[in-house]
Amino acid sequence: MTEILASEADLVEGTLSSFENRVDDTTSAKRAPWQQSMKAAIRSSRQLLEYVGLVGSNVVSDAAEREFPVFAPLEYVARMRKGDPADPLLSQVLAVSNEFTDVGGVEDPVGDGSAEIVPGLLQKYQRRALLITSGACAIHCRYCFRRHFPYSDAPTGMRGWAKALEAIEADSSLDEIILSGGDPLSVSDHVLEQLIERLNSFSHLKRIRVHTRFPVVIPSRVCDELLNWVQRSRCAVYFVLHFNHVAEIDSNVIAGLKQLRQAGATLLNQSVLLRGVNDSFEAQRDLCLKLVDHHVLPYYLHQLDLVRGATHFEVTDAQAQSIIESLRKALPGYAVPQLVREIAGQPHKTPL
Ligand SMILES: *Cc1c(COP(=O)(O)O)cnc(C)c1O
Ligand code: SF4
Repeated sequence: MTEILASEADLVEGTLSSFENRVDDTTSAKRAPWQQSMKAAIRSSRQLLEYVGLVGSNVVSDAAEREFPVFAPLEYVARMRKGDPADPLLSQVLAVSNEFTDVGGVEDPVGDGSAEIVPGLLQKYQRRALLITSGACAIHCRYCFRRHFPYSDAPTGMRGWAKALEAIEADSSLDEIILSGGDPLSVSDHVLEQLIERLNSFSHLKRIRVHTRFPVVIPSRVCDELLNWVQRSRCAVYFVLHFNHVAEIDSNVIAGLKQLRQAGATLLNQSVLLRGVNDSFEAQRDLCLKLVDHHVLPYYLHQLDLVRGATHFEVTDAQAQSIIESLRKALPGYAVPQLVREIAGQPHKTPL
C-alpha cells in the first residue's frame, strides 16, 4: 500500500504545484491559506500525540501508518481535547495497532472496482454518476472505505477527466454528477471552475453534488474563488459534508457553512457510525441538532463499510437501530438521518 502514500503526497503536491505554475512569481507565502494548511498538516502519530499531550501512549502502530499514512491539518487537531486518549476527533485519525488485530474486512467492500464505467467515473445508481475528482483528501480517516482504493490510477485535471466528461455528455439519462474522491476540493478552484463550467454546458445535467470534508477540516477552504463558482453554477449545487461529531463544529466552521448557503448551495451531512466516536444516542442527538441549527440537514448515517483495518470501529445493527429509534423520539423528522448500509450490487443504499 506504499503507492497510496506516494500518490497521495504527489496529489497534494500536484495541487500545490499546478497552483504555483499558474502564477509565475508565486512563493510559498502566496499559497492560498487552505493550501498552506495542507502543507503544514500533521503527518505522523508521534507528532499528533505530542500535539495533544499524550506522549508515551502505546496504542500507535508504525505498520498501520505505513499502510495508510496519518494526515491531519492543525485546524482539526486544535479541536481535540488535550490529554484525552478517547477524544472522538483523535480516534478518527490516529493510526493504531487495532488496525492489524482486526478480523475480517476486505479491500473493496462497496464494489467500486466493478462500478467503474470509464476511468474515474463510477455508476451504481440511476440518474447519477460519481466522478473521482482527486485522490487527495483534507484528512485521512482511519475508517475510510477507500483506504485501499488505487488512487494513483484515478486521472485528475481537465485532461485526466476527458474520457469521463465525454461519457457524461453522451448519456442523457444522467441528471446529476457527484464530485467525490478522495476529496474534490483538494483540486484548485482554477481547475474546478473549468470542470463546473463544462458540466453546466451539458443541458441534461440539473444538479452537481460535492462530497467533501474540507469545510469540516479546513474551514478556510470556503474561499471567495470557491463561492464564486458555486454562485455562478446553472446546475443546483449540493454539498454533502461529512461531520461525525459535534466537537468538529466550531465558529470558523459555522462561518464557512453560512457562506456556502449564502452562495446558494444546499447543505447535507453524511456521517459514519463509529464505535468509540459517535456510537451513542447523545452523541448523535447533539450532532444532528447542531447541524440543523446551522441549516445542514442530516442525510445519511452510514453503517461502517467493512474495509480491512477498520473493523474495530464497527457498531452492531441492533445498536445502530436503537440509536435511530431514540433519535426519532427526540428530534423533528428532518433532523434524523437515514441509517443505511452500502451493499455491493444493490440499486441504492440499503436502509436498515
Ligand atoms: C453512494 C453513491 C452515490 C450516491 O447515492 P445517493 O443515495 O444518491 O446519495 C452515487 N454513486 C455512487 C457510485 C455511490 O457510491
Ligand atoms: S475524507 Fe473521505 S475519502 Fe478522504 S479519507 Fe476521509 S472518509 Fe476517506
